[in-house]
Amino acid sequence: MRQQYADIIVDITQEKLDRTFQYKVPQKLVGKLEEGTVVEVPFGNGSRIIKGYVISLSEEPKIDPGRLKEIHGISIKEVGAQENIIALAAWIRKQYGGTMIQAIKTVIPVKQKQRSKEKRTICLSISKEEAEEKLGIFQKKHQTARARLLEALMEEEELPYELVTGKLNVTSQVIKALEEQQIIQCSSVTVYRNPIHVEGKKEYTIRLNEEQEAIVRDILLHWDDENDRTSLIHGITGSGKTEIYMELIAHAIAMGGQAIVLIPEIALTYQTVMRFYRRFGERISIMHSRLSPGERYDQFERAKKGEIDVMIGPRSALFTPFPNLKMIIIDEEHEDTYQSETVPRYHARETAIRRAQMENAKVVLGSATPSLEAYYRAQNGEYRLYTLKRRAKESRLPDVEIVDLREELRSGNRSVLSVALREKIEDRLEKKQQVMLFLNRRGYAGFLCCRSCGHVIKCPHCDVSLAIHNNGKLVCHYCGYEQEQPKLCPTCGSPFLSGFRVGTQQIEEVVQREFPKARILRMDLDTTREKDGHARILSSFADHEADILIGTQMIVKGHDFPNVTLMGVIAADLSLHAGTYRAAEKTFQLLTQAAGRAGRGEQKGEVIIQTYDPEHYSIVNAARQDYESFYDQEMMYRMMAGYPPCAHLMEIHASCADKDQLDMGMNYLKQYLQQIIPKKAMVSVIGPADEQIAKINDMYRKVMYIKYKEQQMLLKIKERVEQYIGANEGYRTILIQFDMN
Ligand code: ADP
Ligand code: ZN
Ligand code: ZN
Repeated sequence: MRQQYADIIVDITQEKLDRTFQYKVPQKLVGKLEEGTVVEVPFGNGSRIIKGYVISLSEEPKIDPGRLKEIHGISIKEVGAQENIIALAAWIRKQYGGTMIQAIKTVIPVKQKQRSKEKRTICLSISKEEAEEKLGIFQKKHQTARARLLEALMEEEELPYELVTGKLNVTSQVIKALEEQQIIQCSSVTVYRNPIHVEGKKEYTIRLNEEQEAIVRDILLHWDDENDRTSLIHGITGSGKTEIYMELIAHAIAMGGQAIVLIPEIALTYQTVMRFYRRFGERISIMHSRLSPGERYDQFERAKKGEIDVMIGPRSALFTPFPNLKMIIIDEEHEDTYQSETVPRYHARETAIRRAQMENAKVVLGSATPSLEAYYRAQNGEYRLYTLKRRAKESRLPDVEIVDLREELRSGNRSVLSVALREKIEDRLEKKQQVMLFLNRRGYAGFLCCRSCGHVIKCPHCDVSLAIHNNGKLVCHYCGYEQEQPKLCPTCGSPFLSGFRVGTQQIEEVVQREFPKARILRMDLDTTREKDGHARILSSFADHEADILIGTQMIVKGHDFPNVTLMGVIAADLSLHAGTYRAAEKTFQLLTQAAGRAGRGEQKGEVIIQTYDPEHYSIVNAARQDYESFYDQEMMYRMMAGYPPCAHLMEIHASCADKDQLDMGMNYLKQYLQQIIPKKAMVSVIGPADEQIAKINDMYRKVMYIKYKEQQMLLKIKERVEQYIGANEGYRTILIQFDMN
């Protein structure tokens, strides 16, 4: 058998995570090691035995094999939080690609120099009588600094180090000298930065209603079941999901465990944090993207030491190294932010479920508009489904009206505001109520739409909208299909074909022209660029410093404005034609969320949805807040077109500074794929095609799709592709990323 070698990281708390050491694998361990295995290795000159993690295995020594040491054995010490997290990193690497180092960096925050602040103190290590004696000696010798320190310590048992060197003006040399004579003693206590600063804790008073109680009871019933399933709570906004989460967490804590709560960053508001704080007090901690790496590190250290019970935060909070993790909650489970944008592109939902399996914890997902994947699994019985249909506090759902923009055009109105919406805005301004105008230009890629009949030009092969490219052609981002822009609508012959290109700024101008007295705020990428721009606009609107808030999807998530009684959706179809198979799902989610924004207070709310496609099921069902009907129709489409969750879809994203090289690389890759995939396997390889944004930062980008009904096969293909790319020079300069579903 050939000699095997293993790359090993010996200290993951080090700043240089990239530093690996190669070791020989002894014959007795061949076949027993894998990425993430904890081993014992001889290290340094004295070859003392320390713990390390296997990062990769190979048959190639990097230096003269004679100089390599041999792995001592597999560590049999009890696995702790850290080992669990590393094992999770190994799984992430296998599942989502990238290197083991990238995976480890994802799960472990790098320790920084500025780490936890230390509070150093000084106290006497001799009795008062002895101190008295020493003091006399110092005074006699005119050692005034020593005398000063001793006197102070005889009055005050313990003094902060800084106070001694500062106010008392005693140098560190003097302190050291006294410490060596064993007269005093210095010690340091680590002070962790807690990012939450709050006022007094209030009494917790809410009692769950019957529906909530039943869900909690049922989840607890399955608590000791080792093969328990993931739970999905489908409940409209305000139905009391958060209260359920907190009740479950309280149980987890009572059992001596800890809990992680994932929340999309944008919903991580002060109010949410305060609710958890009121219930759990100082035993919670939060993570958000504005924490410095040092603060992040501190939070993880506190978790490891058992100083907190609950960690609340976005995606990365999932890797909190709790010693006895009992529960992971993922609120707003459908949000895109749960997928990482950088390698490894892990999905927090899948990764949470994996972690829970490894550590015997529970996963509870919640959403008002579950992702198709999650709901599909709930329907299959893979998840347990719970439904909440009513709001916990009496509060009426808003009235929703769909306005047909084709009719508006026919009656001569070419403005972005329909007659109905304009009238209602006027009415609210008179009543001193507030209005939100929402432009859902998510994943917006300039599609071609007939303004007379609403027809949108689609790809004949993939059933997604074609995107308008700068060269004037229409292009499909799945298969690369191209065609010229037609002059007349293929359905009704109208010449009013236009690329729908409207932005928040144009809407602001129109609205300001129509309502010169209205105070308008705009929230989009431009106005929120600076730090806290986001929060500033929202709080200004909440204080009624403006009458109308115009914005992109940022305005529809998670904020309650009791005085908003009208929500206008400018062009609901925009997100419908984003050119991805998930466009209808995203549209439904956004419209449902938008509708939920109006009428959160005393007055009843109204919602106007303007669209060129008023019969589309995502729009009709969002207006009715009917998730099940939407789901049934969308599943039919996914089934027929072979998209997830009915099939699995792996995306291969490639980018390169050299366009020709990228084209060649992708074409060869396609040929290779066709070679390795058996003809009758029914695996479809689609593309390569340009990405929606074909060039970013001078890097050309292409994508290829592989569809199949089982994920296992796609993972195998991914492994082969990784080997192929690794073995071919031509891919050196091409960055390749995989994306599963
Ligand atoms: P969701 O998380 O589903 O949006 P929340 O848990 O935030 O719902 O509940 C919405 C509102 O109703 C909150 O103000 C919450 O305090 C309140 N609430 C929830 N459950 C109850 C209950 N059983 N009794 C009284 N108020 C409740
Ligand atoms: Zn038409
Ligand atoms: Zn296509």
